[in-house]
Amino acid sequence: MTRDAKSPHDVVIVGAGIIGITAGLALLKRGRGVTIIDRKGVAAEASSGNAAAFAFADIEPLASPGIILQAPKWLFDPLGPLSVPPSYSLKIAPWLWRFFLSASRSKFEAGTRAQANLMALSRETLADLMANTGTKRMLRWSGQLEAYESKALFERGKKAWLEKEKYGYRGQHLDNPAEVAKYQPGLGENVVAATFTRDWATISDPLDYALALGEAFVKKGGVLETGAVEGIDADDHRVTLTLSDGRALTAEHAVIACGAWSKPLATALGDTIPLETERGYNTTLPKTAFDLRTMLIPVGHGFVISPLDDGVRIGGAVELGGLKRKPDFRRANAMLKQAQRYMPGLVTEGGRQWMGFRPSLPDTLPVISRSNASRRVVYGFGHGHLGLTQSSGTAELIAGLITGGALEIDINPFRADRF
Ligand SMILES: Cc1cc2nc3c(=O)[nH]c(=O)nc-3n(C[C@H](O)[C@H](O)[C@H](O)COP(=O)(O)OP(=O)(O)OC[C@H]3O[C@@H](n4cnc5c(N)ncnc54)[C@H](O)[C@@H]3O)c2cc1C
Repeated sequence: MTRDAKSPHDVVIVGAGIIGITAGLALLKRGRGVTIIDRKGVAAEASSGNAAAFAFADIEPLASPGIILQAPKWLFDPLGPLSVPPSYSLKIAPWLWRFFLSASRSKFEAGTRAQANLMALSRETLADLMANTGTKRMLRWSGQLEAYESKALFERGKKAWLEKEKYGYRGQHLDNPAEVAKYQPGLGENVVAATFTRDWATISDPLDYALALGEAFVKKGGVLETGAVEGIDADDHRVTLTLSDGRALTAEHAVIACGAWSKPLATALGDTIPLETERGYNTTLPKTAFDLRTMLIPVGHGFVISPLDDGVRIGGAVELGGLKRKPDFRRANAMLKQAQRYMPGLVTEGGRQWMGFRPSLPDTLPVISRSNASRRVVYGFGHGHLGLTQSSGTAELIAGLITGGALEIDINPFRADRF
């Protein structure tokens, strides 16, 4: 293939989730010819039904000294915030061991710095992305309220905010229910204190947003194709992708952005990356279910409550159960029940349930990196709980890796070979 910046197969991105689509837009902006290929279509997986948060203040990796203390307690509740189905426990054990090792104080602090850099870049670049794609109207800076059931937890939370403040994030601590009610009326008596931050936004609906970005990608000259990529081969000159229907695509560069399904393609190139999935559940209730003014986080329960344009979305939880197991929607029901304690007036009928596969590395940082096998292949996956939030920054880094030149932040912490 000759090197022609406008060639349809200048760059092929595998995966049309939020990472693949935003990377495609960033590459088009740099004048590259981009084809995105997805086995199902735009935002068919995790990017469609997530909690809609641009959680910029959420800079601490989940692999943290605090979670190591909390997690064993959670594991005793089969429908609690964290579960490992017994049939998957052997399979997930090496990942859990690496998670445990990543939760040391020093690794946690280094991870927080890396994550804060990626958050800052993502926040900085989001306005431009939205202006260029006509999606600005979908973003709401309505903040986030962390609701506490005990003063002891609240004091612990305030300490965590001291760390966030070092990176410029501000929380307003509300130490009594009357203050809390000014930000969100109608909460239960269990809420004794809260912290409110404006460093957090929500999108009207993550699926609508991804579809709008997909439309903008095509309008700007990008090509969207349907196809399942089964194999990849790369050398110094080109990348060849083989599809399940027998087709082969040749490209100057390829980006692997298949979310939780990225591992087989990395393995085919010889890169061993311990990618797993943290399955998450939610229920989207009609808008009339509750007058929700901000995103609400019931601290310590592993789920969140999001205000969407046409609904209230309640969910989260982590199920370390792999890609094949059927969803267990009792988990979504359990979170709905918990939510009623926080919002006694919540109407829980008429909901739509969903399960999604978060792509997750054991240190809970993404992979944004060239493949070790070939500098022509770039990886962008493993964003866990934060793929929507970190998408615009990740896209700029992926585009920078393909086009060459200096990158905005240090991407060493996101290297594919760090494990
Ligand atoms: C319950 C829940 C709540 C969440 N809430 C938030 C939140 O509020 N904020 C936030 O920032 N993040 C949130 N996340 C995380 C976020 O949704 C993910 O990190 C993000 O969507 C990952 O995007 P992605 O593009 O990497 O993967 P995906 O969206 O999963 O996309 C991967 C794409 O690759 C395609 N694909 C896979 N294999 C192949 C193949 N071989 N060939 C062709 N195509 C292929 C798939 O069809 C899919 O379209 C949440 C996740 C869950 C589950």
